[in-house]
Amino acid sequence: MVSTELAEVRATALAAVEAAEDLAALEAVRVVWLGKKGKISRLMQRMGRLSADERPAFGRAVNELKGEVSGALATRRTALKRAEGAARLAAERIDVTLPGRPPRLGSLHPLTQTRREIESIFQRMGFAVERGPEVESDYYNFEALNLPPDHPARDMQDTFYVGPGRVLRTHTSSVQGRVMARREPPIQIIAPGRVYRRDSDNTHSPMFHQIEGLLVDREVSFGDLKGVLQSFINQIFGRPLPLRFRPSYFPFTEPSAEMDVECVMCGGSGCRVCGHTGWLEILGCGMVDPNVFDLAGYDTSRVSGFAFGLGIERIAMLKHAIPDLRLFFENDVRFLEQF
Ligand SMILES: [Zn+2]
Repeated sequence: MVSTELAEVRATALAAVEAAEDLAALEAVRVVWLGKKGKISRLMQRMGRLSADERPAFGRAVNELKGEVSGALATRRTALKRAEGAARLAAERIDVTLPGRPPRLGSLHPLTQTRREIESIFQRMGFAVERGPEVESDYYNFEALNLPPDHPARDMQDTFYVGPGRVLRTHTSSVQGRVMARREPPIQIIAPGRVYRRDSDNTHSPMFHQIEGLLVDREVSFGDLKGVLQSFINQIFGRPLPLRFRPSYFPFTEPSAEMDVECVMCGGSGCRVCGHTGWLEILGCGMVDPNVFDLAGYDTSRVSGFAFGLGIERIAMLKHAIPDLRLFFENDVRFLEQF
């Protein structure tokens, strides 16, 4: 009677072990049969109800059963582990003959591309690239450029002051004074970089990019200035374009001029971009004011020179027909990828 029951328990337990399909299921089987409250453990509790001469044989039989089920569990566990390892290896298999996935390359920002193009045009004409600090002294940003503290033209620029006598430079013209302070003529430089003004709308950004040019030598004339700028315009827009100069005012040049170029959008017939004038304002320029040379300690009877300043954003917008200045600073990849 007892042995028949044990045989059934044995068969059921071993069948459950065989049927477990993964390690978690196998552990559940172990708890059901061999756990503290498991079916085989509970068999032991029946010892108390047996007669003294039945107990040893029953105890031995249950222990054998326990050992047999334990052994079956261990065997099954080994087999399942091996199968799971093999499955993982198959899933993680790498086909080294597949073509690679190349990393996506970035590209230079359109303003960087334009700046480099402008730099290389002027470098081919003999200009060296100079740089100066963006946090500038009041002296180099204003005074050295013929703008003493009480000069009304200081109001032309909305300046960020960052401390006593310290400003975020409002133009790269500040590099002029720095270069002249440490070098004697002849000087032929361009100074590209970031500049800052308290101004922000469709066509103004509080931070933008300029390139300043300065040439100082003997007998420099306005004709030299015009020749250099005409050559620059022809190269940057890829074709000769008519220029015109309009009288203007800058504290550090005399005479001063705004230079216009024939509208690159409509060819001079008039359009929305040029305000139907056929001309685009492209840069400011002039002959270096003798006061600036005096401040630099140069002999104004021996040297003369010209200076010009242009906005890199302005050139990039005209070259690529970009309608809104803010597109440069939003860093939308769909925009940047077009360059
Ligand atoms: Zn136009």
